Amino acid sequence: MIENPPAVRLVSFLISHRNVQSIQEDFLEASTIFADVLRDTGFKFDHLVCTTFLDTVYDTEMNGEQYPINPSSAFCVKAANGDSLREATGWLNCVVELAYSELNSSVRSAWAKVDVEIARSQPLTPIRLTRENDDFLEESPVGGNRSEFLVDHYRDNCRIGIPINASSVSIGIHSTCKGVIDRIPSSLTSDALLCRKCHLRVPIPNGTQTLGDLRKSLPQRAPRLGSRAPRR
Ligand SMILES: [Zn+2]
Repeated sequence: MIENPPAVRLVSFLISHRNVQSIQEDFLEASTIFADVLRDTGFKFDHLVCTTFLDTVYDTEMNGEQYPINPSSAFCVKAANGDSLREATGWLNCVVELAYSELNSSVRSAWAKVDVEIARSQPLTPIRLTRENDDFLEESPVGGNRSEFLVDHYRDNCRIGIPINASSVSIGIHSTCKGVIDRIPSSLTSDALLCRKCHLRVPIPNGTQTLGDLRKSLPQRAPRLGSRAPRR
């Protein structure tokens, strides 16, 4: 039984649209299916447009060279303010290329591979830090085995850094200000999560080892507003 209708619809669409030109000719259907797949994957975006996204890569002497990151999908993913979203655009292109490649084996193989990438690419569910809706977000996704866009994300069973010898270790991102969150030793029994940018400080048990431990430890410990450490 296929559990992911957007993946099935994507593959079915690509079976009858084997190149960029035919995708562009069915702009409305393509953008609807691509948007459903992106939403299922967890990307936050506003709309898609049919245009080339040129990325710039630099050599060791900082000479930049531009190349398109969406040659197969033809679509660029946009934020509400019109900004082009590189990761979502590159991810969509890679999934389209993956589906084309797997269709050389079988339709079921293409469905399965797209399903795997949709599940693998879902970002970590944010961890609520305070009653004022501050969230803990994952750092940049880690490791890819097919391309820089098809990458693993953090999960609740992932271990988080533990500060050693009074040093701090970065473990995530603060949703409100996008500052890096460090874990620092605080007392014999607790550590603290400290945002480098806004100085939000949240105590956690120093035995916290995984993101799941962190999620379980926080709801009843959430501080109220006014708990931000003074700026230095
Ligand atoms: Zn912050």
